[in-house]
Amino acid sequence: MFPENNVLEQLYSSARIAQLDKPHVFPQDVLEHLADPFFVDTDFMSKQVVGHSYLGQPIQMVTVGKGNIAILFWSQMHGDEPTATAALLDLIQFFQQNKIRPWLNEILDKVTLHIVPMLNPDGAQQQTRENAQGIDINRDAAALQTPEGKVLKSLFDNIKPLFAFNLHDQSKYYRIEDTLKPVEMAFLAPAGDAQESIPEHRCNAMKLIAAMLSDMSDELFAKVAKYQDSYSPRAFGDLACSQGIACVLIESGATFNDSNRQNARRLNFLCLLHSIHHIAEQSYNKVLDFDYNSLPFNIENGLSDLIIRGLNVDTVNASFSVDVAIKQQHQKLALISELGDLQQLGAYEVLNAHNFSYAPGNTFEVNQPIDLNKDKYISLLRNGFCRFSGDISLINQLTDWPIIKVPGESEPAGFWRKNMPPTWLMLFNDQVKAALLEGKLIVLE
Ligand SMILES: [Zn+2]
Repeated sequence: MFPENNVLEQLYSSARIAQLDKPHVFPQDVLEHLADPFFVDTDFMSKQVVGHSYLGQPIQMVTVGKGNIAILFWSQMHGDEPTATAALLDLIQFFQQNKIRPWLNEILDKVTLHIVPMLNPDGAQQQTRENAQGIDINRDAAALQTPEGKVLKSLFDNIKPLFAFNLHDQSKYYRIEDTLKPVEMAFLAPAGDAQESIPEHRCNAMKLIAAMLSDMSDELFAKVAKYQDSYSPRAFGDLACSQGIACVLIESGATFNDSNRQNARRLNFLCLLHSIHHIAEQSYNKVLDFDYNSLPFNIENGLSDLIIRGLNVDTVNASFSVDVAIKQQHQKLALISELGDLQQLGAYEVLNAHNFSYAPGNTFEVNQPIDLNKDKYISLLRNGFCRFSGDISLINQLTDWPIIKVPGESEPAGFWRKNMPPTWLMLFNDQVKAALLEGKLIVLE
């Protein structure tokens, strides 16, 4: 009997590779695991190099099972999207640890799994979406100018999988339609033609998505969304569908307090295992209580990192209230991304500022050594200072809070604007209650 979810969770905890709980997965991580004979147990699995990247790194595939139904999985075709790579390596470890279990053998008698846990090692090495030619492999399905794209196309042609899983990460700023919540997992059964028709194999991909979501409904309720299915002949999922393969796109998303996306990694593992089970049993046809088409859509740019809601501003011209959204950019810089009525925008952190009023804050002139620990910084903020001038080298920085130096980019240019780093104070009854230091929110008790 296929185990219940609580048992699968326990088996997952033993199979999960702890060292992969980190922000990025590199080619070396994959190489190291696949080179380990205990990890890829050759009586039970095989591995092969199916091609090489533009810079000559091997692209490896692990094959497990001896059934007639072929299933292909690939991850990290976008080099900066590593979550599913960790999940696929967990899955391989899981097969190895559970190979004596009858229910797993029953499945692996029916299916053969072809697992490519990193299609774009050059992009993974450089932490870029594209390969080393600078080409997005998922826009190369028609032109086939990348060695990695050619490898994937050859796997479609040689393996002729019944199902294929195209595994990605999506931006943390997607929200679920009609909510302000992040999308933890997004799905798509891509179209194979411009009419977006639903031949039997595409319908099977939709049913399979419904089946896995139905198995995990307690866990995934209100956390998942689906992509719009506009046909893109340059994308590999669409190519797969046009070749008669039932293709499932899974996008790992973000959630609160999970910067390494370990929750999405675990959900990938569980979704893939349930899918493999359904394909082996052909039971995806029997799911009645869940409909792919009823999934909410994945809404792009629906979230930001921080929103300050309803901040009151008094100027010589008028008094008004405004919502301000702030997004982290590269290198820890945070900028104002939107201003105005942001009811439709959610955030990972929200400050309700309806009782607060904006104050630009003053500049503290440094002319003697200062040990700037949190207490000292808070007392400066309470006294209305949020920037520094003078001899900044005299500051002994004892917190990780930003030190904003003037003259500098954060100097208030009369008022704030989109794409500026936000630094100001927020007052209640003329007392400083909160501060923004280049986008970092400090709430004073
Ligand atoms: Zn991607």
